[in-house]
Amino acid sequence: MAQLILNHLTKDFGGGRPAVSNVSLTVREGGFLALLGPSGCGKTTVLRMIAGFEQPSDGSIDYGERRLSDASRALPPEKRNMAMVFQSYALWPHMTVAENVGYPLKVRGISGETWRRKVGEALALVKLTDYAERRPAALSGGQRQRVALARCLVTSPDVVLLDEPLANLDQHLRKSMEETFRIFHERSGATMVYVTHDQSEAMALATDVAVMSEGRLVQMAAPADIYARPEGTVVGGLIGRGSILKVPVAEQAPRALGWPQLREVIGSAPAGLHRDVLVRPEHVRPDAEGIALEVKACVYEGERFALTLALPDGQALKAYGDTAIPVGQKANFAIASAWRL
Ligand code: ADP
Ligand code: MG
Repeated sequence: MAQLILNHLTKDFGGGRPAVSNVSLTVREGGFLALLGPSGCGKTTVLRMIAGFEQPSDGSIDYGERRLSDASRALPPEKRNMAMVFQSYALWPHMTVAENVGYPLKVRGISGETWRRKVGEALALVKLTDYAERRPAALSGGQRQRVALARCLVTSPDVVLLDEPLANLDQHLRKSMEETFRIFHERSGATMVYVTHDQSEAMALATDVAVMSEGRLVQMAAPADIYARPEGTVVGGLIGRGSILKVPVAEQAPRALGWPQLREVIGSAPAGLHRDVLVRPEHVRPDAEGIALEVKACVYEGERFALTLALPDGQALKAYGDTAIPVGQKANFAIASAWRL
């Protein structure tokens, strides 16, 4: 199996801290990795190094047995059998949809019946068969992005690199494009690396989520694992909703918060420190036996109400409720579980 392996990958542009520092990770063949993190954390730089547009300052990139890049050599992008989809689509305005999609084939010297068949298959996959003769200007944003996808699929790449491909689309379209990406991944069998700053997109699409912060890889795990067991406050704050509570490691602190069970989550440690504890809103539910907390905010979300509660020490706690509770009123809540970051 050909795995994509990043080994201690580093890129230093020479402006203070390196853009990418010592990133090591492996994507299995046919895997779908989401690279997630705030703007400026180094995601695009990692992708550009994988594509071959940027050479590492240190470390290496391998695909299977093949060394693609390290600090002393780099296989040119066109020899990597990879394709990259950009946020801006980068379509040729003067070419039709079919010509855009078939362009990489033309560059490789493929024409005639093979060209037509491959372009037809790629267009069918993204449901644009009827748009083959249009120009990009006559398409919607979502259709343009599908053209860009078809163009990258047409050469049957081993690895597809996508840099925030949905960032320019509206919310509704993003959901339907997520579905297109999923089908695209299933049918193509390609290994995919998908850069996004949107955690819900990453969770919905990927087999593995890698979270980056300030050039470093902070955690990589399957979506459900990273949601249930985030490591540290960066991942805890980025993945899913939740409240990060600062709980002093003092014997009486959990009791003071009205929640004695927290003692188990915090564990034993020298007093005087505090622990960061993540509580998901779905784990805070109205409960007549629970503790009385003041409601600070109540927002209707359609299927439920998103509540902000005040703990006895003033910290905010997010919760979900089935009914509206007036702000300023107290209601009883119980916390079913929590996770120490
Ligand atoms: P992201 O894609 O996560 O937003 P980038 O990889 O684009 O982050 O950038 C990471 C850091 O590297 C940023 O501080 C950015 O300014 C810097 N950077 C990116 N490309 C270059 C470049 N060609 N020259 C100098 N600095 C760069
Ligand atoms: Mg970027």
